[in-house]
Amino acid sequence: MSPDDAAEDFARIYNKHSIEQGREFATTIYEQKVYVGKKFGIKRNYYYYSYLSPKRGRAKGVTPPRLWFAKWRKRRRVADAHTHGRYREGFEGEDELFTTQDLRGARDSGQPIYLATPMGKLIKYDPRTREKEELLDDLPYDQKHPWKKK
Ligand SMILES: [Zn+2]
Repeated sequence: MSPDDAAEDFARIYNKHSIEQGREFATTIYEQKVYVGKKFGIKRNYYYYSYLSPKRGRAKGVTPPRLWFAKWRKRRRVADAHTHGRYREGFEGEDELFTTQDLRGARDSGQPIYLATPMGKLIKYDPRTREKEELLDDLPYDQKHPWKKK
């Protein structure tokens, strides 16, 4: 599972809850290091990616859960992901994009962020390349969204 896969898994499950409840959800995506033993005196590890149990926020705004005892557990934060809740009249365009606060957070941490939108898109912003990318457009979406063709 790559960081993109972990974000997709979070988005498929939590965008539905986010739209139903009208609240934002957020998580932290981490890398897990697993020691598999030595071969010819060389330590071997493998790495997989997963996400913390997501936190529910307000209608607008959410703080991701933190990675406790990261070093001891051999975990490293690699990205954040959040949802934008349900369709809000007059905010259609805004809720489909990262907010300036979302982008600032990514630049401050130097790590990518993922966003699941009310229209069912998963988008990614990587502050290292400054690129925004649409990864998916078939997540659970808000049926009331006027831009969404039935
Ligand atoms: Zn946001």
